[in-house]
Amino acid sequence: MERELSGKVALVTGAGRGIGRAIALKLAELGATVLVNYNGSSEKAKEVVEEIERNGGSAEAVGCNVADHAACGQMIKSAVEKYSHVDILVNNAGITRDNLIMRMTEEEYDSVLDIDLKGVFNTMKHLSRYLLKQRGGKIINISSASGVLGNAGQANYSAAKAGVIGLTKSVARELAGRGICVNAVAPGFIDTEMTKAMPEKTREAAVSAIPMGRMGEPGDIAEAVAFLAGRGADYITGQVICVDGGMAI
Ligand code: NAP
Repeated sequence: MERELSGKVALVTGAGRGIGRAIALKLAELGATVLVNYNGSSEKAKEVVEEIERNGGSAEAVGCNVADHAACGQMIKSAVEKYSHVDILVNNAGITRDNLIMRMTEEEYDSVLDIDLKGVFNTMKHLSRYLLKQRGGKIINISSASGVLGNAGQANYSAAKAGVIGLTKSVARELAGRGICVNAVAPGFIDTEMTKAMPEKTREAAVSAIPMGRMGEPGDIAEAVAFLAGRGADYITGQVICVDGGMAI
């Protein structure tokens, strides 16, 4: 059966769990072959691949630390050699190391910037030469409401996620002439291990700031990504879609 993303190859970073997992499952459901990237969670990534295969789809787990520039180049080169094209890149991998600015260590700052911002540069830089040759493709970068609004205790994360928006808009301008769309999705407060790690009081305060009065699910983000990856978004580039229950209104 022909589906929206049949014949497409998608690379989703950090897809062994959380939002990345939901995105990988959704893109596979729409017919894409999915490269399920992981860094630490190799077993979980394999489970995602098995789930996709059980549902009749095609996937492969690929290990790579997105903060490693050379390793990202190798991951993308291998993918293009094996599949001959990669059409969709979803930069989802991310971490938090929250602290108030006066207590934040240099390591906390650098590690978040290295993964959440430089990681997005690393994969886009390496894939862009192939996308330019094939004259088409979709890049979707996962930013955050923290990058749009700022957030106390997240100076490092907000800087990285705001940086992702600037990176998205600049690369969108660079690649638009070859039919390549580059957009960002900014999730609000989504129920994953990242938010489960927050103290209960902080979680309650975060939920009370959401006009819709509840947290989002990973699937809510996957729907927006699937839209941007599909044909219905072929004339949309350089945009940020906030999927946040109204947080960033
Ligand atoms: P999560 O459950 O903590 O998952 C994080 C994912 O990132 C994991 O799959 C992890 O892979 C991957 N990752 C971390 N460091 C990596 C590295 N160096 N190289 C490759 N992969 C790496 O977080 P999540 O909530 O699903 O978040 C996914 C994305 O959404 C992140 O960019 C996050 O900032 C963003 N976001 C989340 C929320 C939220 O409320 N949850 C809100 C706004 C934005 P391994 O386990 O294999 O290391």
